[in-house]
Amino acid sequence: MQSDFVVLGQIVNASVVQTAQGAVVIDTSSTPEAAQEVYAEATRQGHVLFVINTHEHGDHLAGNSLFACPVISSRKAREEMLSNTSLASVSLPTITFDTRMDLFIGEKVELTHFGGHCPGASVVFFPERKLLFVGDLVFNKRIPYMGMAEFTTWIEALSVLETWNAEVVVPGHGPMGGKEVLTEQRRWLETFIEEVRTWSVGGLSQEEIFVRLLGRHTVVERWHPMLRRAVALALGERLEDSL
Ligand SMILES: [Zn+2]
Repeated sequence: MQSDFVVLGQIVNASVVQTAQGAVVIDTSSTPEAAQEVYAEATRQGHVLFVINTHEHGDHLAGNSLFACPVISSRKAREEMLSNTSLASVSLPTITFDTRMDLFIGEKVELTHFGGHCPGASVVFFPERKLLFVGDLVFNKRIPYMGMAEFTTWIEALSVLETWNAEVVVPGHGPMGGKEVLTEQRRWLETFIEEVRTWSVGGLSQEEIFVRLLGRHTVVERWHPMLRRAVALALGERLEDSL
């Protein structure tokens, strides 16, 4: 019972955790078909208590409208959803929290807002199971989406999570793993920023840095604007830091 949870999807993860009082759904996937799968899994064993959205990105919200139960997110995530016209058809969270919220559903569930990957990014922790859902604070085995990154906040968030008593970590994208996926993601981001800033100091333009990164990482073409933006964000934070 304690480890009774299912992660659906490989590219975008949505999870269903069975508790003594019913199911908790963490993110609802990216397409109507995948969302139906999440709904079917969640309702297979009966009652669904809550849907939790780890953050405001549309590829995690497709199935929100299928569920009659409350939908929870950070206040920031809900605000970001509201201001994004491409998410007009998404069912918004009905309950929000600022930095922390605990659910008591036969066991304690801790929701914590961090930001970093995007303004609303949060995690969901089941301490008795040592089970941690980190949303898009971790992309495991693939390049992270950094188009809205606050790198300093993101790295700090991962550093904090590395101190938590978790044994299983479920990322927003890619396979689940142990705590090492937190460390790997933090180091990846640190290296990314370090390289971008070093190349910039060395005289490369943002476009030249972008081209160099393309040679180093596998980035699908529709993510090229994301990578350009990430370069600008990494350099922008440096400027702010040095003020
Ligand atoms: Zn995301």
